[in-house]
Amino acid sequence: MDAAPLDPSTLSPYWMPFSHNRYFKQHHTLRMLDRADGVYYTTREGQRLFDCLSGLWCCGLGHRHPRIMDAIRQQLDVLDYGTAFQMGYEPTFRLAQRIVDMAPPGFGQVFFVNSGSEAVDTALKMALAYHRARGEAHRTRFIGREKGYHGVGFGGMSVGGMVANRKMFAAGMIPGVDHLPHTHNLQEMAFSKGQPTWGAHLADELERLVALHDASTVAAVIVEPMQGSAGVIVPPVGYLQRLREICDKYGILLIFDEVITGFGRMGAAFGAQYFAVTPDMITFAKGINNGSVPLGGVLTKHAIYEACMAGPDHMVEFFHGYTYSGHPLAVAAAHATLDVLSEEGIFEQVNQLVPVLESAVHSLKGEADIVDIRNCGLAAAVELAPIPGKPGLRALQVFEAGLKRGMLFRFSGDMIAMGPPFVSTAQQLHDMASVLRDAIRDSR
Ligand code: PMP
Repeated sequence: MDAAPLDPSTLSPYWMPFSHNRYFKQHHTLRMLDRADGVYYTTREGQRLFDCLSGLWCCGLGHRHPRIMDAIRQQLDVLDYGTAFQMGYEPTFRLAQRIVDMAPPGFGQVFFVNSGSEAVDTALKMALAYHRARGEAHRTRFIGREKGYHGVGFGGMSVGGMVANRKMFAAGMIPGVDHLPHTHNLQEMAFSKGQPTWGAHLADELERLVALHDASTVAAVIVEPMQGSAGVIVPPVGYLQRLREICDKYGILLIFDEVITGFGRMGAAFGAQYFAVTPDMITFAKGINNGSVPLGGVLTKHAIYEACMAGPDHMVEFFHGYTYSGHPLAVAAAHATLDVLSEEGIFEQVNQLVPVLESAVHSLKGEADIVDIRNCGLAAAVELAPIPGKPGLRALQVFEAGLKRGMLFRFSGDMIAMGPPFVSTAQQLHDMASVLRDAIRDSR
């Protein structure tokens, strides 16, 4: 249905997430999306925008992929909703098996949720339940990382380490959480290509936190293998291995939050395989069904499930779940997405694009205002020198200049993040980088 263009006052009942509402509502006209096809959005004004972040890291296969759309349409004719509590639906069981088959050895079960935030909170609760079932209910502490992003639930917010997301709600942090130092260091690793070689020792801070609280109190460590939302902060060579060793030494569970890195962004099913480090749990969302219908999940080692099943509670072994856990539409979309990933050789395609993206973004080195360029898998970030006293403004200017030139970049702080669709062409990646250069110049 065609409606008259909205004016700012009629827009105002909508409280936008993670947005500068007042600014948007004054300047929205260029930013109203109308539709999307493949790697492009079209705005209400008819402008085509290349989707430099694949939605919010979720639409790797491009928008409205026909096989995924068909699967959703067909599902609507069969089962719209089916309770997942004490009842089953075969496609959901099959999807869990397919995901386990893609995971590193040792993984055995998948618990479905609807978002990355729910996946993280579920994983944290699983860690508590696991230790309790094994007679170690005193393991209640969690360790996250500075600059980490683990969604917006109380658990994820508390283990997360992005200051802006924490300060407004500081009163609501769950107790017993520490943070490892982040690995972002412009002196030591600026302009590294792929994994920096400096910084593995920062993982040793985990030893200090364990010694401080005693290992018997620590339930789990949670990290994004590659920090996405903080601006593609790539783990130093050996860093994740070191975390794994320390967790093993003290019986602490290691959780990888793979909401961004799962299902193709690293040219592999999971970052765990890409970085060759196997955690005990993997949280995922986004790419599992190409962002089409909300779906997330927690992939656990079989031993964690087994311990919970043998625990003291019977009738229900894990008092947790969501009305929409494993929603049939989301599951149908996920099956189609996994079909496309495997049948169309998408991981190989990503691996071919990775060096193209790397050389495209690093060609901006030397441009005034750029203080760092990072890349890993099909993800990259360009960090800009902040305008003194006005953090975030420089990146906003570049974002606006990019929009005028037909590129939808994502900015966070003074970083411009890029996670282009897996189905981008090499030319599109080069264009993305050269428009970024122009946008930086235009807005100077
Ligand atoms: N964890 C990570 C690593 C994420 O990148 C995100 C989303 N950007 C989340 C959790 C939260 O996911 P959602 O927005 O679906 O709740």
